[in-house]
Amino acid sequence: MENIEIKCGICKNFKTLDKFHKRTRGKYGVANNCKECGNEKSRKYHETYKEGLNKIARLYYAENREKVSEKMKLYYQKNREKILERTKLYHQMKNPKSPQF
Ligand SMILES: [Zn+2]
Repeated sequence: MENIEIKCGICKNFKTLDKFHKRTRGKYGVANNCKECGNEKSRKYHETYKEGLNKIARLYYAENREKVSEKMKLYYQKNREKILERTKLYHQMKNPKSPQF
């Protein structure tokens, strides 16, 4: 069993079973690509994935930064009185003995 060499699906080299990760669903109970290729594959996958995520976050932020701050500005303009009132009340509650009130 240990002497069997199988072909790696990626590098196409014949390697002994111990050079492959175990996969119960695989033909010989191992993955169809060798450990080396498997590591390379997952490393690349993670790099691509990480890069992709950063790119998406950056894009989202760049695209929405103006929208978000515009929204905040509008909200503030529309609710300025309410916000000011709320802030006043908040301070009043925090400092009930404040001479201002
Ligand atoms: Zn390989």
